[in-house]
Amino acid sequence: MRHGPRVLLALGLLVVAAGPVHGQALQIFDAHIHYSQSDWDALTPERALSVLARANVFRALVSSTPDDGTLKLYDRSPRGIVPFLRPYRNRGDMATWPHDATVATYVEERLKRGIYRGIGEFHLSASDVEAPVVKRFAVLAEQRNIFWQAHVDDVTVEKLLTLYPRVRILWAHAGMSASADTVARMLDRYPKLWVELALRLDVAPGGQLDPAWRTVFVKYPDRFMVGTDTWITSRWETLRDSMQVIQEWLAQLPRGVAEQIAYKNGERLFPAP
Ligand SMILES: [Zn+2]
Repeated sequence: MRHGPRVLLALGLLVVAAGPVHGQALQIFDAHIHYSQSDWDALTPERALSVLARANVFRALVSSTPDDGTLKLYDRSPRGIVPFLRPYRNRGDMATWPHDATVATYVEERLKRGIYRGIGEFHLSASDVEAPVVKRFAVLAEQRNIFWQAHVDDVTVEKLLTLYPRVRILWAHAGMSASADTVARMLDRYPKLWVELALRLDVAPGGQLDPAWRTVFVKYPDRFMVGTDTWITSRWETLRDSMQVIQEWLAQLPRGVAEQIAYKNGERLFPAP
């Protein structure tokens, strides 16, 4: 690990190169991984785990369609995998689950395994926040003291946080399009909100950490996590490159802040069993 300016001797002159202050790559808690049915033929569970390890990921929050994919990884690496229960038995459930009582039963039964640290990732629109299955999920999350991972926009996340104030919510993709200022406002107002940054290339356009995001990270360093989101199989193939991009903007933050966002927050919120 090398900190501070690199000192070079050239032509007898002492040259202090300002060069990039790149520390060692940080270990990573990846808060957004899927190992869904379409991945299983392309990638054995062992191979998936090795892809994560090669990208410096020591622990990953995983949910899958169907959930069996998550269990395939968890069975082989209970310390490396944080299982979230995705309420989708198949892709068709994605659109209909809030009003499908059989989804509630499925989730309730499956949670009895006692291994799950959250329900999600799920998608939801603002008009469905009071749908019966959402209400049931709130009771289940509270009873078991587990999270939700919600892929929702800023309007919907605020409704969820208001209607279900005791549920801890991990906001997937920071709402995908919510601005840094909007995210900051939410974090300020709702103590049970955490944010993961999968697919948020606007955090560091062209590799340069955006100043607005930087401000929010420094102000709320204990509320953010990174993620890559293997929502299609090709994302597994490029996971290491995606993580390299993340490492590059993390390196532009104060080391302590970068460490919290890279892995300490995930480790604290989801310790190994
Ligand atoms: Zn996802």
